[in-house]
Amino acid sequence: MRARDSYAEPYRIKMVEPIRLKDRATREELIKEAHYNIFNLKAEDIYIDLLTDSGTSAMSANQWAGMMLGDESYAGSRNFFNLQAALQDIFGYQYVVPTHQGRAAENILMSMFVDKNQKVPGNMHFDTTEGHIRLREAQPLNLVIDEGLKSGSDHLFKGNIDLDRLEDELQNNPVSKLPLIIITATCNNNGGQPVAMDNLRAASELARKYNRPLFIDAARYAENCYFVKQRDPAYRDKSIRDIAREMFSYADGCTMSSKKDALVNIGGFLAFKNNEEWYEKAVQIQICYEGFRTYGGLAGRDLEAIARGLYEGTEEEYLEDRIGQVSYLGHRLLDLGVPIVTPVGGHGVFVDALKFLPHLPQSYFPAQSLTVELYREAGIRSVELGACAFGYTDPETGREVFPAQELVRLTVPRRVYTDRHMDLVVKAFEAIAGRKENIRGLEITYQAEILRHFTARFRLREQ
Ligand SMILES: *Cc1c(COP(=O)(O)O)cnc(C)c1O
Repeated sequence: MRARDSYAEPYRIKMVEPIRLKDRATREELIKEAHYNIFNLKAEDIYIDLLTDSGTSAMSANQWAGMMLGDESYAGSRNFFNLQAALQDIFGYQYVVPTHQGRAAENILMSMFVDKNQKVPGNMHFDTTEGHIRLREAQPLNLVIDEGLKSGSDHLFKGNIDLDRLEDELQNNPVSKLPLIIITATCNNNGGQPVAMDNLRAASELARKYNRPLFIDAARYAENCYFVKQRDPAYRDKSIRDIAREMFSYADGCTMSSKKDALVNIGGFLAFKNNEEWYEKAVQIQICYEGFRTYGGLAGRDLEAIARGLYEGTEEEYLEDRIGQVSYLGHRLLDLGVPIVTPVGGHGVFVDALKFLPHLPQSYFPAQSLTVELYREAGIRSVELGACAFGYTDPETGREVFPAQELVRLTVPRRVYTDRHMDLVVKAFEAIAGRKENIRGLEITYQAEILRHFTARFRLREQ
């Protein structure tokens, strides 16, 4: 990767969307009205929105031009065939089943393969993947390597699956108990950490040895390919497209949220390498839940934007700038002494709130408190991945159960903000670091039974 200051963004800006910083008194009022939960804020009240990189990408002139060529025919839209051609070209997969989002592709895949009381191993399933496995009354198994869970470990491929544990599971469970394997690349839930090509190849060999299908959750596959090129000398001289081709050759198919590396605002798909029987089975479910095989819940113009976005998302200059910007933010925060998960991952910087705010015990929701403070300080929206998102109240003991990590994610949308926006985020941390002992913890005043972080309400604790 070139030094960040040796190149500029590989695009110029043709259209702008104004953003405004509300004054401090207004921000104080708004976050209080939002019950100290950033999900309750209106987007227009935010200055720099780092809530997610999902569906927040800026599309290119080429993608917008493609939108105007949308063929809205119910069956046989030309844009579907363009998407199919992109999949065959970039992924090497013959069959594509468009869906309205990534999770809809997961729904189809799990309906096809997963039944009650089975287990589905993977490196680390994304939340909605886990949700779909559980909806089938099956059990998700996260077998990421130990280093993948240590925020201080500088292992280069923290998304790798533990191959010994995977083989153990495959050996001890027949197909009727363990129907498929899913590898998520990059691995979202531990910080956008990449999976090594060797690891994927070995997982694929195990899958073949034990005769189970292997699928890739490909939401951030292009970022994964870029890391492979950067971090594995064997791939230094290969193109991103070649790396992607090899990566997908090790799996039987994939699910994809196009809202990530396909650089669009909505859409997803399920794809199969060459199994026509699976494809026709998937189409049956697709028709019931999504729509006919050539549109799957999307407009023709959306399919075109995805087809074009898949190509743009694998361009090396784009990926260098994209991963480079996230890395820039991460390293500037490290220079300030802010504790973050390293190496910096693909789509965001993850701040260790327990280390940053050591005066707040986990029961005071330090990560949530930091998201509140970032909004109060600079109108920045980040997201909590800690005691609120992953903790819960044990129904038997009435005690709070806390997750191992207490993180704040600063997720960087693709092609949306410049490094000057990143500089303001760093400046906000600098200001907060100078008075962080005064940050008060929070307590929950309302919570839903599942996925409570989206709707929870809080009040400030007394010091
Ligand atoms: C976002 C995401 C999904 C779900 O996709 P949606 O388009 O949000 O439904 C699945 N897996 C991973 C790794 C993701 O990042």
